[in-house]
Amino acid sequence: MTVRKAYQYRIYPDREQEKQFHKTFGCCRFLYNHMLADRMDMYEKTGKMKRLTPAGYKKDYPWLKDVDSLALANVQLHLEAAYRKFLSREKAGHPKFKSKHRSRKSYTTNAVNGNIRFEEGKLRLPKAGLVKIRVHREPYEGYILKSVTVSMDPSGKYYASLLYESPAGENQTARGNTADAGRPQEGCGPKILGIDFAMQGMAVFSDGSRAEYPMYYRGAQDRLAREQRKLSHCKKGSRNYGKQKKILARRYEKIRNQRKDYLHKLSRKIADNYDAAAVEDIDMKAMSRCLTFGKSVMDNSFGMFRTMLDYKLSDRGKVLVRVGRFFPSSKKCSCCGKVKEELRLDERIYRCGCGNCMDRDVNAAVNIREEGRRILMTA
Ligand SMILES: [Zn+2]
Repeated sequence: MTVRKAYQYRIYPDREQEKQFHKTFGCCRFLYNHMLADRMDMYEKTGKMKRLTPAGYKKDYPWLKDVDSLALANVQLHLEAAYRKFLSREKAGHPKFKSKHRSRKSYTTNAVNGNIRFEEGKLRLPKAGLVKIRVHREPYEGYILKSVTVSMDPSGKYYASLLYESPAGENQTARGNTADAGRPQEGCGPKILGIDFAMQGMAVFSDGSRAEYPMYYRGAQDRLAREQRKLSHCKKGSRNYGKQKKILARRYEKIRNQRKDYLHKLSRKIADNYDAAAVEDIDMKAMSRCLTFGKSVMDNSFGMFRTMLDYKLSDRGKVLVRVGRFFPSSKKCSCCGKVKEELRLDERIYRCGCGNCMDRDVNAAVNIREEGRRILMTA
């Protein structure tokens, strides 16, 4: 079972941020009302209801691009939910227009790729930047941030409501970033974790989380970069050059150990908690050859992680399933199964006509998990 927890915090936006919030409230209301009107229009004329997306409106109203696009994406979802409620139960009335004065001033945005995070004691929000926040109680450790709703009450106070989800089990988080995305994992059958290789943070999991190197790792890397720069200033073959090389070697060693330690812990946790894991059968050597990583210490992490996971799983009588390398994990919609012809690398959010809208990497990880399940069941 998923446990969801919402924490509401008072936030103190500065003048610019306040402006941005109001702009977003306004844009969301505008979009909601226009989508609703267009749907009603269409229904009157054709008797049909077509799905509308924010993208269509951005062409006609380019200023919609000035606000958080995920907030707009959620407007679509809210309207669809209102319609679903209306169509499924007689009690719920037809969706209503939002009034500038009476309606609640709020918008909801999703946590994707760490776009929303605590930083320097403040809350980083898309488009608004670092907003002053009073955290009167800490969110549960290990819970995953899903979305944030920014609102203003009638007295002019601002709040951020942070929605967290428990990481335990997997049935919950396969849903990705929106409540409707992703196919939930069946209640019975093996518990499988899908793993997608990612350039940033090494791996993304089908439960919506990603491998997160601990903070000290970052620090060590910065120090490494500094020592590397120092070396480049030393004259080759000089005494200082030799000394600096030694320092650098020790730094590398330290990072290698930290990384190994982290990967051991991560793979052990997965092997303990899942019946199987599914990964793409990518050739890491070929990959590191054709990619410019810059950070040579990083490039082998995923391969190492996969190896550790493999033997830790088999130690426990479990399996690591390898999914064929031509399986379209990124292009396939994890909700309806449709495969896109093209998916640009910079499209970080997977959007599908079926309404699915989730983090690109999580979508891929869910596909890998389901393909892994298929392989496991037919084997
Ligand atoms: Zn779809």
